[in-house]
Amino acid sequence: MKFYDAVVIGGGPAGMTAALYLLRAGVKTAMIEKLSPGGQVLMTSEIENYPGFPTGLQGWELADKFVAHLENYDLDRIGDEVRDIEVGTTIHTIKVGDEIVQTKAIILATGSRYRKLGVPGEERLLGKGVSYCALCDGNFFRGQDVAVIGGGNSALEEALYLARLVNKVYLIHRRDEFRGLVCYQDKCFKHEKIEVIRNTFVDEIQGADGVESLALRNASSGDVSQLKVDGSFIFVGFEPIMDFVCDDVEKESNGIITDVEMRTNVPGIFAAGDIRSKMCRQVASAVGDGATAANAAFTYLERLGV
Ligand SMILES: Cc1cc2nc3c(=O)[nH]c(=O)nc-3n(C[C@H](O)[C@H](O)[C@H](O)COP(=O)(O)OP(=O)(O)OC[C@H]3O[C@@H](n4cnc5c(N)ncnc54)[C@H](O)[C@@H]3O)c2cc1C
Repeated sequence: MKFYDAVVIGGGPAGMTAALYLLRAGVKTAMIEKLSPGGQVLMTSEIENYPGFPTGLQGWELADKFVAHLENYDLDRIGDEVRDIEVGTTIHTIKVGDEIVQTKAIILATGSRYRKLGVPGEERLLGKGVSYCALCDGNFFRGQDVAVIGGGNSALEEALYLARLVNKVYLIHRRDEFRGLVCYQDKCFKHEKIEVIRNTFVDEIQGADGVESLALRNASSGDVSQLKVDGSFIFVGFEPIMDFVCDDVEKESNGIITDVEMRTNVPGIFAAGDIRSKMCRQVASAVGDGATAANAAFTYLERLGV
């Protein structure tokens, strides 16, 4: 069994920032990450809105910079998946793989995962033309026609990324108005390879061994049609990853509930980034949450006399 003063669960922007701040405060810290550190940033083509990088940068470049920064400090990295947390009075227990880790302070930073569209064909054709990651799979569709389904920032950004690779992008949104930023909307609406289809539901993703077409339904008229595509990229929102967090910690469907200092209702347990119940899910806000959570955890540990 291992023991740390603080354990950060999740190695995305929130987790890596929290770990950095804890280490700089001299706290014996471990970070548990089931994949490579970077989180969703590794699935992002280009990040244009993270301050300090006026010409933007690739997601993997930003992740690399976060990791390089952490490497200046003595962080214990545990590369496995957290399955369960047991709340104690002052010592909390984390089950990670086959290991038990104990700690006085936990920062939950496991982020969020894509939401499914929930239509026939989506599960069956996953990996056969259905994707949730343009950066991972876009290359397979060079010169072909694809659909991007969604109306938020991720859908717009990823439509722009795919337009660099494919022959044509159909950007399909169930509403008239897009939720994403106006600057992304403008770029999409003007792009010669992007055709915007509004007010339209995707009722089914069709194909025998791979995506061949989408069954569409107009939201106003109810008219149905078929659209021939080779791939379908779904960006219809995210849900927090918190299945492993025990019921002692207060949560709602949108995430873990915290106060402004990132404290949950359980002393010694904090949450930061996309896992939190909040509106703005971005790298900048995840980083801010991580710093705040680390500061609150440090103050908490000091009160315990660590
Ligand atoms: C396609 C796309 C484009 C985006 N574009 C932008 C953009 O341009 N600008 C911007 O600011 N934001 C963008 N975002 C959003 C941004 O990436 C997220 O808001 C940010 O990464 C959240 O950081 P986080 O640390 O909270 O979570 P995440 O980045 O999700 O990291 C969480 C980490 O926890 C790990 N983890 C999960 N469960 C466990 C477990 N049980 N045990 C151990 N480890 C676990 C995961 O593997 C992951 O590495 C984009 C997101 C996507 C998907």
